[in-house]
Amino acid sequence: MKIAIPVKGRLREPAIGLLHDAGFGPEEPGERALAFRCRSAPVEVLLVRAADIPEYVQDGVVDCGITGADLARERGARVSTLLRLGFGSCALEAAVPEEASMRSLCELAGARIATAYPRLTTELLAERTIPFELVEVTGSVEITPRLGLADAIVDLVSSGNTLRTNGLRSIGVLFSSQAVLIGAEDPAEGALRLAPVLASVVDGKAARYLMMNAPHSALAAISSVVPGSRSPSVLPLAEPGMVAVHAVVPGAEVWRLLPRLRAAGASDILLLPIERMLA
Ligand code: AMP
Repeated sequence: MKIAIPVKGRLREPAIGLLHDAGFGPEEPGERALAFRCRSAPVEVLLVRAADIPEYVQDGVVDCGITGADLARERGARVSTLLRLGFGSCALEAAVPEEASMRSLCELAGARIATAYPRLTTELLAERTIPFELVEVTGSVEITPRLGLADAIVDLVSSGNTLRTNGLRSIGVLFSSQAVLIGAEDPAEGALRLAPVLASVVDGKAARYLMMNAPHSALAAISSVVPGSRSPSVLPLAEPGMVAVHAVVPGAEVWRLLPRLRAAGASDILLLPIERMLA
């Protein structure tokens, strides 16, 4: 089976890491390698430009690929999203110079907008019925308002530091992106087999295994705090009246959850990472 991943940039290492966490044993690719094999699975990995991956997948050169959701849509390739991978999060945002009067997306009507994402910008502003004049650039988009070439820009933002450094202010998000696994419109069998394997890793990473002890009398209060549709597992302890409570919880909820569990009567709380999760 062939999978394409970005040869460079911020998605490369997390993509290789995902293949590693899935147990495929990816060989360590050299700096200049354009392909490598996996030791424990019949998977060949091609390293190509993130922007070219949608076409390779569409044309069946590879069975599937990992790239940004923004690029999958911008390239207009006929591909299907098989899985959201939970890394490479960023947003396509509209931004204007600090001193500009515009405060919201609808105020962009009639503006000259510079972007390296012409298709996405055109589609997303048309969805909001905002007319604009497209200024297509391939890089350094942040400089265009200062050069007098554009009134606003549309670009990918993750921390917002680049915008601030260039005296720009975001006025709204057009599209939220993250790395995705894509396959052909009618996905190859290999892609359909790979997606659930990677999904079990992605889901595992997003969750934590929570264990705690509590008096039996605190069980109702603890169960009401633990999120999720399934009730937690309850195991009797040797100490009379005490139970151990185990549950799988979303990793992002943990900071909110722990003090509430303590207040509900839980003690000896342990939190463990999860390698795989299959519902
Ligand atoms: P790169 O090859 O590093 O320029 O980025 C390729 C992909 O990384 C983009 O298409 C996005 O999907 C994703 N990405 C995540 N954060 C950012 C960001 N702050 N700027 C640009 N791309 C980003």
